[in-house]
Amino acid sequence: MRGLRLSLPGRAIAEVRFGKTDFVDNPGEITEQLPGMRIANVARMGKFICVGIEAIASTTPSVPPAVASSLPFYLIIHLGMTGRLTVVRSGEPALPHTHVVFFLQDGGELHYTDIRRFGRMLLLPGSKFAEFKSQLGKEPLEIGAQEFCDDFGSRHARLKALLLDQSVLCGVGNIYADESLFRARLHPARIAEKLKKEQLLALHKAVRQVLEEAIRFRGSSISDYFDSEGKRGDFQQRHRVYQREGKPCVRCKTILRRMIVAGRSSHFCPSCQPAPRRRTKKRLKPQMNTDKH
Ligand SMILES: [Zn+2]
Repeated sequence: MRGLRLSLPGRAIAEVRFGKTDFVDNPGEITEQLPGMRIANVARMGKFICVGIEAIASTTPSVPPAVASSLPFYLIIHLGMTGRLTVVRSGEPALPHTHVVFFLQDGGELHYTDIRRFGRMLLLPGSKFAEFKSQLGKEPLEIGAQEFCDDFGSRHARLKALLLDQSVLCGVGNIYADESLFRARLHPARIAEKLKKEQLLALHKAVRQVLEEAIRFRGSSISDYFDSEGKRGDFQQRHRVYQREGKPCVRCKTILRRMIVAGRSSHFCPSCQPAPRRRTKKRLKPQMNTDKH
């Protein structure tokens, strides 16, 4: 998003052409409405990239959609697993699996390329923007420590599930959830409402640190993530647990493990991130019912 924000605002769209459209909600509206309009701004909301669209004659000042929903349209894009957006000069050959080309009036082109097409694209009228945004949870880089503790501390859900639930916190995916839990020394299957305040505070801090560091290193290129200039990210070299099962923990040398929590692969150190204590009522030996051990 930061790369696109540097190059797109102010540029007008001349034409939109689609290849495959099974990941696009309303391709017809996009090809019909966008030509002759101008890109006002680019912002991020959770995992979505939001491209604000304005009329060329418009004198509306360009403001991020996070603070205003007054633009006529927002082009909403989710990159899914393998999506990428690149800005190229006209005539540059499109990569294989490029399914949308936005031809810009100044000769540039914005390409959407996606091998697996798990991404999503839709054109949202300004009038529907607030409703769309209201379905998303809080921004992990904006939520305050107390608010985070109140939100998580009141939920009977596993930490991994909560971190990935986009209606609670938006923007954290599998990699950054695992890395955050490792830094906070919390097992992914721990129940949020059972944590102590200092553990919740540690998790809030860890999520922020991981995201800020990942952004600084331009993201994680696991298989085929590239940024808007076609460069790979570098954060994958700094992963401490994600996809490192079988390797020693960087902190304590215990062999890292992987298990499924909330339906997703979760990577953790069994020693630094102890598993939640199991309820043992059925397995208690008879004599243990009478004392508190
Ligand atoms: Zn460890």
